[in-house]
Amino acid sequence: AATLLEARDLVRRYVMRRGLLGRSVPVTAVAGLSLTLHRGRTLGLVGESGCGKSTTGRMVLGLEMPDAGSVAFEGRPMPPPGTAAWRALRARMQMVFQDPLGALDRRMTVAAQVAEPLDIHGVGGAAERADRVEALLRNVGLRPDQGARYPHELSGGQRQRVVLARALATSPAMLVCDEPISALDVSIQAQVMNLLVELQAEHGMALLFISHDLRAVRQVSERVAVMYLGTIVEEGEPDALLRDARHPYTQALVSAIPHPGRSDGRIVLQGDPPNPAARPSGCPFHPRCPVAVARCAQEAPVLRDHPGGRRVACHLADPAAFAEAA
Ligand code: SF4
Ligand code: MG
Repeated sequence: AATLLEARDLVRRYVMRRGLLGRSVPVTAVAGLSLTLHRGRTLGLVGESGCGKSTTGRMVLGLEMPDAGSVAFEGRPMPPPGTAAWRALRARMQMVFQDPLGALDRRMTVAAQVAEPLDIHGVGGAAERADRVEALLRNVGLRPDQGARYPHELSGGQRQRVVLARALATSPAMLVCDEPISALDVSIQAQVMNLLVELQAEHGMALLFISHDLRAVRQVSERVAVMYLGTIVEEGEPDALLRDARHPYTQALVSAIPHPGRSDGRIVLQGDPPNPAARPSGCPFHPRCPVAVARCAQEAPVLRDHPGGRRVACHLADPAAFAEAA
C-alpha cells in the first residue's frame, strides 16, 4: 500500500517543573523514532505509560512540533500547528482520545457536534449535512433520534461512538486513536473495539492505534510497534511478535498475557518503571533487561531490519540468526 504518513527520527524534549520550588527537570519524551503508516492500514503503538506514545501521536497529527526529525503527510511536510495549511489538513487527519466526555461539549447536542466538522470544513448544504449526520450516527451504532441528546445523557460507550462519528464526518485518511477504550467499562470495550475495526475497513482510513494493552493493539493492527522510553524497540506483525518476540522487553510484555496451553512463565521485570526524566545510558532498557551484557550500558542499539518485515533494537538480536526461520 502507498505511504500516507512518514515520521523520521522524531525527537521531543521538554522541561517539567517539579516540587514546591519548581525544580526544572529535562524530559526526553521521544528519543529518535521513525514510523511509516500506509493508506488504509493499521499500525499499533504499544508501551507503558510515559514511553512517549501519546507525544508521538500528537506529533504525527501536527498538534505538537518535534524538536528534531520530520513528519510528512501525503508526501508533504506537516505544516506548523495553527497555520492555514495545517487547518486545511485537519479534515484529513482525525483523532479519538481516551476521555470522550472531555472531547465533547456538554452544552451542544450530539447531532450539532457531529455536524461541527462539516460546518468548519464547509461540507455540503444544511439538508445534506443533516442527512450525513444521521448516516454517521447509524454508522457508529447510534439511533438518529439520539442526536438530540446531550453528552451527559449518554453512557461512556455511546459518547465514544459520538466522538467516532464526528471523527469520521470529514472522511479522514488517517485516524489516531489514543487509548480509545481505556476509560470505558470493561463490558463494552470489546464492542467499541469491534466497531473501530468495522469502521476502519468500511472507510478505508489508516489507523494509528495507541495503547498500553498489547492484546487490544493486536486485535486491530496489521503491524505493531513496541515502544520503550521514547524509541521503538521492536516492530512486526502482531501474531509473529506474540509467537516469537525477539526483544527482551517485548518478550516480557508477551509473557504477561495469559495464554491457555502455554507453559512458560511470566517474565517479571526488575528495577524501576521507565522514567523519561531519568533516561539510562546505552540501551534505555538495560537496567531492567534480564539478559543485558556490559555493552548494553554503553551503546544504544539501533533498530535493525530482520527477515519477515521485523525491526528489532537489541545488541543480542542478530538478524542473521533469524534468517532461517523467516
Ligand atoms: Fe537487553 Fe542489551 Fe538488548 Fe537492551 S541491547 S534489550 S539491554 S540485551
Ligand atoms: Mg498517553
